Amino acid sequence: MPRTSDRRLRTRIGYGFDSHEFRPGIPLKIGGITLPHDKGLGGHSDGDVLLHALTDALLGGIAAPDIGVLFPPSDAKWKGADSGIFVREALKRVNEAGYKVANVDASLILASPKIGPHSSAIRERVADMLGIPCDCLGLKAKTPEGLNLDNAAIAHVVVLLESRRTSHSQNTARKVNSRSPRAET
Ligand SMILES: [Zn+2]
Repeated sequence: MPRTSDRRLRTRIGYGFDSHEFRPGIPLKIGGITLPHDKGLGGHSDGDVLLHALTDALLGGIAAPDIGVLFPPSDAKWKGADSGIFVREALKRVNEAGYKVANVDASLILASPKIGPHSSAIRERVADMLGIPCDCLGLKAKTPEGLNLDNAAIAHVVVLLESRRTSHSQNTARKVNSRSPRAET
């Protein structure tokens, strides 16, 4: 059996990557928002590339099995499914492991549509899903210059997880220190 950590880490980092191909005639879902476009993202569930990378980042942060293992694309149950389900399940596992999301940073790479006009709505929706303030969720959109990937959407996401227990004991320690300045000497 693999060795497990015998001490709780105060913070853990999680990273997720995903890509999907554009297909005509289906809705484009990114970050839980339907964007106006003539093509959507095919493949697993509703094809929400950002939420899939986010799910994998959350799961990776606690070394849990990844999205493809927990929600196999081969299972008809997930065809067309709302990807918010995957984020909620990953978040539940993060909470059960004793962690909470501190902040998230995401990059989207796609030729079109322009993400700028929808950036606030996406950030608001995803931050709401995670229960974090909007200023703890970074979102950048890039075009795939020189990559010859104009028919794909790609997402990279990193998350920082913080131990619930540690942040509580740190706060307690801070309070104790502020009450007893002699502890500084
Ligand atoms: Zn995906």
